[in-house]
Amino acid sequence: MVMKPDPIFAAIEQVYQGGPIIYLTPQSRLFNQQIAQQLAQEPRLTLLCGHYEGIDERVCQHLVTDEISIGDYVLTGGELAAMILVDAVSRLIPGVLAEDSPQEESHSGNTLEYPQYTRPPEFRGWRVPDILLSGHHANITHWRRKEALRRTRQRRPDLFARLDLSSKGDQKILRELDAEEGE
Ligand code: SAM
Repeated sequence: MVMKPDPIFAAIEQVYQGGPIIYLTPQSRLFNQQIAQQLAQEPRLTLLCGHYEGIDERVCQHLVTDEISIGDYVLTGGELAAMILVDAVSRLIPGVLAEDSPQEESHSGNTLEYPQYTRPPEFRGWRVPDILLSGHHANITHWRRKEALRRTRQRRPDLFARLDLSSKGDQKILRELDAEEGE
């Protein structure tokens, strides 16, 4: 069963107030943080969710302006995909979260985020790294960058290969990581 074009055109023409009309489909480019950041700049988004076999191709050709997939697997309908997009985009809109929270998160700078710790400083004998308790801001910044690069290199070599690590600071960190991992 394929969704007919006339009710889809009628529904969207009824609610449309500008901005991209995005069809959630497994057949398109994969959603990521960069796309979320671009979409967060739009004043309004219209999301179209398919069901069954999908929607009549004329909707894609003459109504939809963008298509996004949330992963290389097939869902029953586009609603969960739309909710993922709404969640990832809305938390980037100023005022939704505390002002600077998303900036250091995984994927914001194309790295994964460094490990996070909270109180207590020691739990069942496992200590928070001393450097994080030192109050020395420059050392903490260095540690966070180093651990973000270590984690990205280990877990997502595809992302790591695309990073620009030409700065002196990053070159120093890479030498440190190589030395530690060669130990
Ligand atoms: N026949 C389609 C195909 O092979 O490409 C799959 C249709 S799927 C069963 C029904 C609907 O779920 C799609 O129209 C789309 O809106 C949504 N959907 C399924 N997988 C998705 C994914 N990975 N990303 C975004 N939307 C998805």
